[in-house]
Amino acid sequence: MPELPEVETIVRKLTRGEPAEAGLPTYPSPVGAEITHAWGNWQNSIRPSIRAVTRTLPGHRIESLGRRGKYIVLTLQSGADASVRYLIIHLKMSGRIEVRKTGYPRHKHVHFTCGFDTGYTLHFHDARKFGRVYCVDDLETVTGHLGPEPLESDFTLRRFRPLIAKKTGGLKALLLNQSFIAGVGNIYADEALWRARLHPFYRAAELNGRQVAALHKAIRASLNDGIKHNGAAIDWVYPEGNYQNFFRVYGRTGQPCRRCWTPIERTLVGQRSTHFCPQCQRL
Ligand SMILES: [Zn+2]
Repeated sequence: MPELPEVETIVRKLTRGEPAEAGLPTYPSPVGAEITHAWGNWQNSIRPSIRAVTRTLPGHRIESLGRRGKYIVLTLQSGADASVRYLIIHLKMSGRIEVRKTGYPRHKHVHFTCGFDTGYTLHFHDARKFGRVYCVDDLETVTGHLGPEPLESDFTLRRFRPLIAKKTGGLKALLLNQSFIAGVGNIYADEALWRARLHPFYRAAELNGRQVAALHKAIRASLNDGIKHNGAAIDWVYPEGNYQNFFRVYGRTGQPCRRCWTPIERTLVGQRSTHFCPQCQRL
């Protein structure tokens, strides 16, 4: 699943009018464009309903494009009454955004489209149909459960300390919890714990001050590093990133630790494969 750096890369490309993948066309930025039409065919993916979303969207202008956690957020302004609304997309397992010239035929896995007065249409391609499209008046109804944005300037060590001090349980599971910090997933949790030299099962309550500071720094560093490389391409869904070539631990089972040459080990946290160095990251 795309995590914060992958979604951030997608949002930046979309804002600039860059294609998500080689072979797709460039296009005018949707920011400032007016939505001319919307279409959907998969009821479970579209909230509150296909009918409500496809009727509401036309006539709205796209004020800005952004990200909250792993959600892509388009802030919209209604032409009719100047009210603000949000079109929110979560890519989940297999979601992909393609922008095509309006009139380009929909692939069978495209379950939502949104056309702009620029002559281009956003296609939401989602083979496994776990992705979600929301159109809401209040952003918080979708993103209200999320914890702080780890790359915002207000996510300081001073703010992080009391957040983690209250937590019980192991660090890997905690980092995957979107209500703790938004946007960290399986890859960046493993990478951050390796950087901070903390075992995935280490208990949050047992961290000392120095370890909390190391973890805070490591979370930001691994996410920033991911963004620098346009995220990670780990499957066919998100093919353009380069960060997979720079992983410290993720997917490197049996390969030498980049710090101490001990073979990286793999374990499970919940159902998620978890990679760590048994030498650098001790319980
Ligand atoms: Zn090591």
